[in-house]
Amino acid sequence: MNCLFCAIVAGDIPADKVAESQNVLAFNDINPQAPVHILIIPKSHHENVGELSVADPNCLTELFTLANQLALEKGLTGYRTVFNTGVDGGQTVFHAHLHLIGGRAMHWPPG
Ligand code: 5GP
Ligand code: ZN
Repeated sequence: MNCLFCAIVAGDIPADKVAESQNVLAFNDINPQAPVHILIIPKSHHENVGELSVADPNCLTELFTLANQLALEKGLTGYRTVFNTGVDGGQTVFHAHLHLIGGRAMHWPPG
């Protein structure tokens, strides 16, 4: 399987890591949309959050727990967490990943 984020987990492609546990990895997005833009991913491959939620709900919880922890560490007064799902949902990398975005005021609705 040719998966960019699996390659990052394996260390075959470098990433600017910010946190890691047994099951999850967090690294800075290569094209940040805000002062803080971190991707938090399960180390095991799941195509999207729907599949992850069925296969490993505890890991899904761990992604959000880490997002909140990183937001606190970075002193964010608010933040947005996003899973894009499918092409029409804006997903471009088909390994489930939680975007943690913050450090500026967010707009609503998103585009
Ligand atoms: P999606 O569009 O699938 O929700 O999000 C994919 C994210 O991965 C994008 O925000 C994009 O900037 C980021 N991304 C794509 N390739 C790389 C990469 O090689 N390294 C890192 N750190 N982020 C990447
Ligand atoms: Zn993968």
